[in-house]
Amino acid sequence: MKRLVLAGGGHAHVEVLRRIGLGRRSDLDIVLVSPLPLTPYSGMLPGVVAGHYTVEEACIDLVPLARFAGARFVHGRVTAIDAHGKIVQTDDGSEFSYDVLSIDTGSVPPRNAIAGADASGVSVKPVEPFLDAWQAVLDERPPRTRCIAVVGAGAGGVELALAMRARLRKMPRDTEVVLCGESPDLLPSHSSSARRRVRAAIASRGVGLRLGHRVTRVADGKLHFANGTSIDADWIVWATGAAAPPWLRTSGLALDPAGFVLTDASLRSVSHPAVHAAGDVATAQDHPHPKSGVYAVRQGPPLFANLMHALDGETPRPWVPQPRTLALLSTGDGVAIASWGAFAVTGAWAWWWKDRIDRGFMGRYRP
Ligand SMILES: Cc1cc2nc3c(=O)[nH]c(=O)nc-3n(C[C@H](O)[C@H](O)[C@H](O)COP(=O)(O)OP(=O)(O)OC[C@H]3O[C@@H](n4cnc5c(N)ncnc54)[C@H](O)[C@@H]3O)c2cc1C
Repeated sequence: MKRLVLAGGGHAHVEVLRRIGLGRRSDLDIVLVSPLPLTPYSGMLPGVVAGHYTVEEACIDLVPLARFAGARFVHGRVTAIDAHGKIVQTDDGSEFSYDVLSIDTGSVPPRNAIAGADASGVSVKPVEPFLDAWQAVLDERPPRTRCIAVVGAGAGGVELALAMRARLRKMPRDTEVVLCGESPDLLPSHSSSARRRVRAAIASRGVGLRLGHRVTRVADGKLHFANGTSIDADWIVWATGAAAPPWLRTSGLALDPAGFVLTDASLRSVSHPAVHAAGDVATAQDHPHPKSGVYAVRQGPPLFANLMHALDGETPRPWVPQPRTLALLSTGDGVAIASWGAFAVTGAWAWWWKDRIDRGFMGRYRP
């Protein structure tokens, strides 16, 4: 019996598990390794912060999904891969040999080289400690946190800042939210029309904006910038991008310059054909695309097909990502900005649409 090891329960792997379950193969030994039974769905994370969804509504329970697929759920964190010896090691020292391995463990927060950063805030990833810390801010009686700084003005940072502001405005407290970014403008990968709309949403909701200067230091409740200015910040949320898991460095797998698994068009490692990778942890050599949940979700079906081909000794099929995707950015208060190529529109209907898409996606993984 061949063994398929699924490292991580990310967005692509939940679809792999669902499809395995629908096909019910009894000739496979499937192992899913995940540090937690619940895996968060990124599209709904700002909605949890805004209070639209509970944590449970925005998470997929991997335990029943693994059971549906006939997979063994291993509660653990992958800490090492030996791609040559075909072995995966977890944090309790357990080892799992594999015929085929698939990695979908997401990214990790970039190492924070900013003095004082680690003591003064929390990274948005992993999601669980971030949501716990946010809940603690909401539960403060009397409120102590007066100024929240969200550092990182990409789509995640924008949505988080707006979601926080929307939630705090419903409470009897006066807490500022400031969004800080190093680039001179927000959302560099979006059109000027989308950027204009996002700026308008930020201004009309009273979110502060500090762009164009790198954060250099955190000290005495202040965020200090490279141009010598500073702002008050008694809680800082770091949304500064995605880094590769450090344990990949010793795996023997071919990696891109940033340390992510380099894959070919069939989502296979370019150096070790028994290893596949999808989502943020992978970089497609021929079709590089942004590291976002949308692409991780889209990779689920081709990843499933190619894992089955690899196990059955068949030729893998190439997958070409769409050159552009629709982004629906929520403002946290029942409105969203839809951005597609050069076009962007704002409206309550866009939020309604996003909510329907996200709830529909989650519904596929409920028992
Ligand atoms: C605030 C915020 C909002 C965002 N909003 C959007 C959005 O609206 N749309 C969008 O497309 N993208 C969004 N993103 C980006 C999105 O979160 C990621 O691109 C997406 O989650 C990547 O999916 P993934 O499958 O690669 O990994 P993840 O979703 O990160 O899943 C990885 C899984 O692997 C597990 N894992 C981690 N390490 C290990 C390990 N060592 N061993 C075993 N398991 C492990 C984790 O617990 C998790 O279950 C947002 C990001 C943030 C921070």
